[in-house]
Amino acid sequence: MSKHIKPRSDALVFFGATGDLAYKKIFPALQAMACRGKLDFPVVGVARSGWNREKLIERARASVTEYGGLDPVGFESLVSHLRYVDGDYGASATFEKLKVELGTSHRPVHYLAIPPSLFSGVVSQLGRSGCAQDARVIVEKPFGRDLESARELNRVLQEVFSEESIFRIDHYLGKEAVQNILYFRFANAFLEPILNRHYVENVQITMAEDFGIKGRGKFYDETGIIRDVIQNHLLQVVSYLAMEPPSSTYAEAIRDEQAKVLRTVRPLDVANVVRGQFRGYRDEPGVSKDSFIGTYAALRLWVDSWRWEGVPFFVRAGKSLAKTVTEVSIQFKQAPQVVFSETSPAAVGNYVRFRLSPVVAIALGARAKRPGEGMSGVPVELSVVDGVRDGTLKPMDAYERLLGDSIAGDTTLFARQDVVDAAWAIVDPVIHGPSPMYEYEPGTWGPSESDRLVEDVGGWKNPI
Ligand code: NDP
Repeated sequence: MSKHIKPRSDALVFFGATGDLAYKKIFPALQAMACRGKLDFPVVGVARSGWNREKLIERARASVTEYGGLDPVGFESLVSHLRYVDGDYGASATFEKLKVELGTSHRPVHYLAIPPSLFSGVVSQLGRSGCAQDARVIVEKPFGRDLESARELNRVLQEVFSEESIFRIDHYLGKEAVQNILYFRFANAFLEPILNRHYVENVQITMAEDFGIKGRGKFYDETGIIRDVIQNHLLQVVSYLAMEPPSSTYAEAIRDEQAKVLRTVRPLDVANVVRGQFRGYRDEPGVSKDSFIGTYAALRLWVDSWRWEGVPFFVRAGKSLAKTVTEVSIQFKQAPQVVFSETSPAAVGNYVRFRLSPVVAIALGARAKRPGEGMSGVPVELSVVDGVRDGTLKPMDAYERLLGDSIAGDTTLFARQDVVDAAWAIVDPVIHGPSPMYEYEPGTWGPSESDRLVEDVGGWKNPI
């Protein structure tokens, strides 16, 4: 995205080559890069499982077959670039082997696709072995469990890597639909003049999933909905919706504006949060019988900026809800009822909607005259659904996009430390402090107690 040229990396090293993330995301992304002719560097998998290169290739084959399909030409190219280093992450010999395997590559990207508890050891070993010189590092989420641990993680990373060499993946930022929020806002002139407290009544962001925790009880019960998707993905979306126009005259403009706006979001308190847990969650394997972890949360955020003062941003996310959908809805204030005074208020319509998944769509809700006598209206929607489905455009998966950007040194779509810190500062008071928990029935829109947050704006806008 950034037009500011940085040196290209000349190798990709990924730790955790035997892991789940590598299997689901990294191999398919690498094959996709190969298909586009963008994989022109060695790819070194590192793991401690006693594997060899052949085993890694088999794993890659199974991965791409299961996730997206094997492309014979692309896969052949991936295999030709694939290398393997086996060894314990705590042993310096592993990193000596890595150096040998890197050969003439002097600007590697190291991807830490490993549990966060291993980051610190691997980063120190990279530093000590010289593998970190002129290198970049990709760090997977979660970036800490709260503000304090995020700062500690950053301290560890910055002992070896400079901030501009640290690429914190929030795959949400790699999604076309999320980038489109930014693009649509600032590539058009019509929306920006009305995107402020004079015209906007409220903003609602919903991330709903109609499934539960899919057997990941242990992970989930240590994480919960706020850490899993709100602190990172949804607050990034809030920043894209609320930030001031960035100027592309310098590389960090977008991330500067994100940090600025998130710092103006008031830290949460219990009055502005409702947490929920779906009935049956505590019976899931790996979940504690008296778990107090939320599988649902609804927040009312206040952005204390000149532009947004007094406009509530409602954010809610949940598991086992009525449907799987992620959507942003910007509701505008009603038009004055002086020209056409209608009995049904003109609030139906008057919105911009960004559907982020499962399909990508942008829609403008308006009112048009109902045909016939009189001057009454019907709500209409002017909408555009992406061109991916009819085959005219080839989608790019977030991981492919982000891996490509990290090789190119473009940090725009990665989370910068101050943005991460600002997001933690918003949710920190409610992840540490006590707050009530309400049970809800699976298949619903969450606990009815969350309705109190939206009482003044006519309720939640459930995506249809
Ligand atoms: P896995 O548990 O599958 O493990 C990843 C790798 O770490 C494996 O290669 C494993 O090696 C190695 N490993 C695990 N524990 C140890 C240990 N104690 N010592 C040395 N090596 C170890 O994790 P994921 O692939 O699921 O996740 C990796 C990272 O990506 C995490 O930070 C996670 O939060 C993040 N992430 C994962 C997502 C996913 O869908 N899986 C989605 C988003 C982020 P071995 O096989 O030899 O044990």
